[in-house]
Amino acid sequence: MFRQPITSTVRKSSLSSLASFAFFPRAAARCSQTSRSISALYPCHRKPITSKISFTLIQQQLPRFRSRKFTSSARSHYGFGNQPYRRFNNPRGQPFIWRLLGNAKPHHFVIIGLGISGLYIYNTETVEMTGRRRFNCISSEQELQMGNQSYKEVLGSSHGKILPESHPTTVLVKRVLDRLIPQAPIVGANWRVHVIKDDGMVNAFVLPGGKVFVYTGILPVCEDEDGLAAVLGHEIAHVVARHPAERMSNSLLTIGAVFLISAMFDISGQIPSLLLNLMYSLPNSRTQEAEADDMGLMMMSKACYNPEAAARLWSRMKRLEKEAPPQFMSTHPSSYNREEAIRDRLHKAQDAYEQSGCDSIQTYMPGFRQANGNFGWSF
Ligand SMILES: [Zn+2]
Repeated sequence: MFRQPITSTVRKSSLSSLASFAFFPRAAARCSQTSRSISALYPCHRKPITSKISFTLIQQQLPRFRSRKFTSSARSHYGFGNQPYRRFNNPRGQPFIWRLLGNAKPHHFVIIGLGISGLYIYNTETVEMTGRRRFNCISSEQELQMGNQSYKEVLGSSHGKILPESHPTTVLVKRVLDRLIPQAPIVGANWRVHVIKDDGMVNAFVLPGGKVFVYTGILPVCEDEDGLAAVLGHEIAHVVARHPAERMSNSLLTIGAVFLISAMFDISGQIPSLLLNLMYSLPNSRTQEAEADDMGLMMMSKACYNPEAAARLWSRMKRLEKEAPPQFMSTHPSSYNREEAIRDRLHKAQDAYEQSGCDSIQTYMPGFRQANGNFGWSF
């Protein structure tokens, strides 16, 4: 599934920073010596992007542990005569959250616990097509807004590389999409197809709201329209199941936990940035990927595309991943045997194919399958 450009930049920055750290420990050591700030965790020349959201506002609001020089004498520092220094004797020196917890009564914890649980349950919903329960606190309208924002950004970054609507490749991709759309119940979708001329980019994605982007680099991997239907079916399924909203909701939970950890334990501000970097570097969850595989397979089968093409597509993707990992695979982890899982579901997909009357379409329209299978991509 596609992520917004800024997110992918964060991920790249995070990974390259961590990689630089792993391969150049001496450089990292020098950084640590020269800087006590957050950059100590990263190479000197590169600040992590998430440091921009390094909780400055929170840090300004919350009292921090006061930095002081080490001394063996509490008297010299605080001047309290013979009274020994004890760190927690001074409540004003503790972070706000600890002072808050210290003054709280047991029933306060019960009320907060019930409130958080209620909020979580209130925002729990069922994925209509699979029956899976999940947490989602992002509304369809908010998700659509984010999709529209991403759409503008991608159009801007792809300026001059988008093939015209009348181009044969764009027409063909639109034809595949038009057959899949009736199987994709997305309220308020405004479907549009853009084919980006970039033979080195093996990628395709669909944004909330129905904006479809296909890079020419993925077309040879698809081989034919059935393969392309497998890719688009998978990507459309992510949007139908509202996986972007689910991912954003889980991110908000993580950010909330990070804020809490920061307020309770973190002194330097490094823990939140590190956790956020890790969060952004994570690929789609295996659950979401398996769900998109399942839904996409059923969509393409009902649209009269050969479901076996999906298994063959992921087999080719796996081979390609070993040679040179394509962009598409960076967000589609092969942490489980995707091809085998799809083959296990093929009988169900074949049933859907037959129930949709696809066999009769082939009988009455003999040129139908040939047109699908023998198309020569022309860019
Ligand atoms: Zn996916």
